[in-house]
Amino acid sequence: MPAKLKKVVILGGGFAGLVTARRLVRAGVVDRLCEVTVIDAHDAHVYTPWLYEAASCALDGETRATKERMLGKAHLPYATLPGFSQIRFVRSVIQLIDTQTKYVNLERGRKMPFDILVIALGAESNYFGVPGLPEHAFTLKHFEDAKKIHDATERLFDVATARQPKYIVIAGAGPNGMEFVSELAHTLRALERRAKIQYGAVKIALVDPSPELFTVLPPALRVKAVRRFERLGVELRAGLRVAEVTKGTVKAFTATGKSTDTLELPADLCIWSAGIKMSPLIQLLPFLKDDRGRIVLENTYQVAGHPGIFAAGDCASLINPHTKKADPQSAQVAHYQAHDLARNIVSFLEGKPLYSARLPKRWAFFSALGGHYAAGTLGGIRFSGRIAFWLRRFADLYYFLALLPVTVAVRFWLDGVRLYGKNDR
Ligand SMILES: Cc1cc2nc3c(=O)[nH]c(=O)nc-3n(C[C@H](O)[C@H](O)[C@H](O)COP(=O)(O)OP(=O)(O)OC[C@H]3O[C@@H](n4cnc5c(N)ncnc54)[C@H](O)[C@@H]3O)c2cc1C
Repeated sequence: MPAKLKKVVILGGGFAGLVTARRLVRAGVVDRLCEVTVIDAHDAHVYTPWLYEAASCALDGETRATKERMLGKAHLPYATLPGFSQIRFVRSVIQLIDTQTKYVNLERGRKMPFDILVIALGAESNYFGVPGLPEHAFTLKHFEDAKKIHDATERLFDVATARQPKYIVIAGAGPNGMEFVSELAHTLRALERRAKIQYGAVKIALVDPSPELFTVLPPALRVKAVRRFERLGVELRAGLRVAEVTKGTVKAFTATGKSTDTLELPADLCIWSAGIKMSPLIQLLPFLKDDRGRIVLENTYQVAGHPGIFAAGDCASLINPHTKKADPQSAQVAHYQAHDLARNIVSFLEGKPLYSARLPKRWAFFSALGGHYAAGTLGGIRFSGRIAFWLRRFADLYYFLALLPVTVAVRFWLDGVRLYGKNDR
């Protein structure tokens, strides 16, 4: 064992941070060449692709215990993660990254020195300065958000009647808004069929400023998605930009763009799903940023001019040589980058030259559209329906296999498939 192990500090235990840590364990360098610390403000990793399922789960009177399990499935406490015994987790809000002295400042005046730093702090919800949003709308980013949305929806469903309907507005028809609204609408229709709620007692609208919805899908699949939403009874409102949210209403500018042309939608519940931004911590860093505020990286995942400081995931901007653009901010990209980046940390530790990032030409994309239905592309091929639903489910398994020992990953995934299958009935 070398006299002094290098201190690898990973900021953020999300997709990029945790996969980096896991890869370092699997590469056999932890406790041989380095010690690894992951710092996060929370005590658990959040598997965001299952947050929609958690937020809209078991609204039809499952037992309390089943509900808790369905909610908790997207929430993986660091302390109990198998395969991470060599990693030290520190729960603290990171307050400052001092790249000169190589210290990270934590709460209560605590400081953490590093030799190698991985910045994997993700992004936060962006309210774009819309008045009333922080006070009156929910966002779906963390596990606690899913719980709050679940409870608020349950309360709404309890009191809604056809004579006095309740309204839910989801703002933002990007991948997140799309998935959440379809999960929720599917659950609602199932409750109506089972006479747990009156037909027409809850109305759901999806609003977005773009003239066309679901542009993340290729045109043929967009048409299918629109048809699917119509079948699920979701009111689709393209060309509406949210101007203000108050208790009970969402005020929106219409497509004319004139500040006088507004309309008001009733909204007993508003869920904001319309964008992300960089945290003040990232904004403060003295690094080059792209137009979204992400840290610009060299093709080795290092920050230019800062050897030993790496970044990955939502807060990182790495030009993909195939597209000449930075890749989208997604769990899939964060996972892939972290996997690739870990190789370079190993090279760095061993004093070897760093590799250039090996990024794929295109990324798979699938969106669940309620029940056993999804749409998306894999390797440029379009899929929709049940096959796409299962391809999306297998993407979950692929991730758990990267993170956990094989048998644990398969068991965890099967349990999730079974539990969330209750949402798909
Ligand atoms: C509801 C939802 C569903 C999604 N579904 C999908 C999907 O199906 N497929 C897909 O590809 N992508 C999906 N995404 C996007 C995906 O979650 C993100 O792109 C991904 O999480 C980015 O990974 P990351 O490691 O960069 O950041 P994150 O996973 O967000 O991790 C960042 C971590 O940093 C911590 N942190 C941040 N600031 C501080 C601080 N100051 N101090 C301490 N800790 C801090 C946070 O607590 C967090 O744990 C979804 C996102 C949401 C919100």
